[in-house]
Amino acid sequence: MVIVMAKNAPAEAVERVINDIKALGFTPHISEGEERTLIGAIGPAPTEELREQLAGLVAVDTVVRITKPYKLASREFRHDDSFVIIGGSGGANAVKTGNGRFVVAAGPCGVESRGQLLDAAAIVQRHGAAILRGGAYKPRTSPYAFQGLQEQGLAILEEARANTGMPVVTEVTAPELVEKVAASADMLQIGARNSQNFALLAEVGKTGKPVLFKRGMSTSIAEFLQAAEYVLSQGNPNVILCERGIRTFETSTRFTLDVSAVPVLKELTHLPVWVDPSHAAGRRPLVASLALASAAAGADGLIVEVHPRPEEAKSDAAQQLDDAEFGALMDRLGKVVQALGKSL
Ligand code: PEP
Ligand code: MN
Repeated sequence: MVIVMAKNAPAEAVERVINDIKALGFTPHISEGEERTLIGAIGPAPTEELREQLAGLVAVDTVVRITKPYKLASREFRHDDSFVIIGGSGGANAVKTGNGRFVVAAGPCGVESRGQLLDAAAIVQRHGAAILRGGAYKPRTSPYAFQGLQEQGLAILEEARANTGMPVVTEVTAPELVEKVAASADMLQIGARNSQNFALLAEVGKTGKPVLFKRGMSTSIAEFLQAAEYVLSQGNPNVILCERGIRTFETSTRFTLDVSAVPVLKELTHLPVWVDPSHAAGRRPLVASLALASAAAGADGLIVEVHPRPEEAKSDAAQQLDDAEFGALMDRLGKVVQALGKSL
C-alpha cells in the first residue's frame, strides 16, 4: 500500500508513519513528490482495518492499496513522473532524465581501445549527447567473440569522463562485478540477456546507482516491471526502463522495436522510459527512423551506438553510426523533440 501524506506534511509526521509501519512489519520506501511525500509500505497484505488506522494518523491524506504485482514501479504508487539524476561526481556533469529534457547517451558498443573510445566520446559530445556509453564487459552470444576489455575498459571510460565531463554508462554482467563496475560508472546497464537475472538486479539495487534496465527480448511488459521491482525494492529508486526490441517472426530487422512499449510503460509506471534503436534495428540505415519514432512516441531518452570507424568494430559493426550519421540524427532529433515541447 502507499501512504499519501498531506501537502507539506511536517517531517515529524512523516517520521511517525515510517516508525509505525516498520513496527507493523512493513518496509518503508519513501518517494518525495513536488508537494507531497509518499510512503510505500511493502509487506503483508494490509487489512481494511489497518488502512483505516494508518489513514487516521496525523498529516496522512489517504492510504491506497496497490493492486498491481509491481508496487514501487506502478503509477498507483507515484502518480507523477519520477526523474533520475545521472553522474555529478568524479568530474561528471549531472544529467537529469524524466523531467522533460530529452537525453541521449551514445558511444560504441564496446570499449576497444583508448583511442577508439576517446574519439567516440569527442564525436558524441560534439553532436550533443549528454552521456557516454561503452561496454567494458560484453555479454556475447558466442564465447569465442570479443568479451570486452573489462577492467582496462573501465579505466578508459573513467579517462573519457575526466576529459569530457560526460557521465558514463556501462553494462554489468554478473553480481560479483557490481561493486567494481559501480565504482567506475555513473550508470549501470543491465542488458537484455540479464533482464530476469534477479540476483544481479538485487545487487545493482543495493548500490543506489542509476540503472539503465533493458527489456529482455522475450519479456512481457508485466514481467519487465516486476523485474524492475527487484531493483526498486532494494531501496534504489533510480531506474530507467529501456525498450530495445523484442523477438518476433520478423527477420528483416535484428529485433522488432516495440514502439508501443513506450506509451504502455508511460501508462503503467512513473519511471523514465528510454529506447535503444540500435540493437532493435541491427542495421545502420534503420537506426535514425527508429530513434525519431521513439522520441515521437514519448520516450525520455535514447541510447545509440556510435563508433568512429564502424567497419572496424569488434561487436555490432553493422548497427553503429559514424560521425556524420550521428550528427544527422541529432539534427533531426532536435526538431522532433522541439515539436514535442522538450529540449535536447
Ligand atoms: C549493448 O548495449 O551493447 C547490448 C548488448 O544491448 P542489449 O542488452 O540490449 O542487447
Ligand atoms: Mn551492442
